[in-house]
Amino acid sequence: MKDNTAKENAVKKAYIRKPLIVGNWKMNKDHLESLNYMQKLFWNLQDKRFDFSKIDLCILPPFTSIRSVQLLVDSDNIPIFYGAQDVSDSLDGPYTGDISAQFLKKLGVTFSLVGHSERRRYHDETVKTIIGKLKMSLQLGITPILCVGSVNADDDSSIDQQIDYALMQVSKALTFLQGFGFENIVIAYEPVSAIGRGTTVDPNDIDIMTASIRNCIEYQASKKAAQNIRILYGGSVDSKNAASILELENVDGLLVGGASLDWEEFSRIALISEKLVSEKFIPEKLISEK
Ligand code: PEP
Repeated sequence: MKDNTAKENAVKKAYIRKPLIVGNWKMNKDHLESLNYMQKLFWNLQDKRFDFSKIDLCILPPFTSIRSVQLLVDSDNIPIFYGAQDVSDSLDGPYTGDISAQFLKKLGVTFSLVGHSERRRYHDETVKTIIGKLKMSLQLGITPILCVGSVNADDDSSIDQQIDYALMQVSKALTFLQGFGFENIVIAYEPVSAIGRGTTVDPNDIDIMTASIRNCIEYQASKKAAQNIRILYGGSVDSKNAASILELENVDGLLVGGASLDWEEFSRIALISEKLVSEKFIPEKLISEK
């Protein structure tokens, strides 16, 4: 692919799926810090006249903060979604330390992160476990965000290897989630080589990967599913590179780790995304609306 192809596609882009910007806090922020952050984020975005109808914003706090975030969001009518960083593949039973999707649903959780490379690396998650977590989320009405892309949880594989692996992951999910509502999931391309490293991967690689994922969905499922499913990019996103990634034709949002820990930086990313969408927003074309 020529160097400028991603840029050319970006110029043509119109936002037909509602962008989703997700902040993954990982193992950071206790429940008091979470409350403080959520209030500041909301007040700041309100002050800056952020249009919450144009972008879906979601925070993934640690499990121990979810109840506090729920109470705050409900009492102050904060239009920001929240979700879980993981979910069990079982509904209940003798699984010490695991958290059931049914408990999360009762806490008003909208999204669950599934198959993050850190879960695969430190908790040996297999494709089978990941499929179980996707199923459990969908059955309980929680939208799973499936992380794909890295061949091994700790390697720097080439883009071709990553594409093969990601398409295998998507394909398995498509096969095993038939009848479970596959078209309701979100897919995040998260190259391990970019996570927490301070630099994103080449935008052309993101462009090829996200286009390949969408083609795979169309080929294996349907054109409608391919049009509806939101594909995110994650890996060292910040306010300096967010726009150039979000402009890529098949990128419908961002999964932000380190940069989401600071409410001012996450606000900047949200505002940049909203500005982009407002400039290229075609409401009658908008397909996915949460
Ligand atoms: C992540 O771990 O999901 C992530 C995207 O991290 P970071 O933005 O810090 O690279």
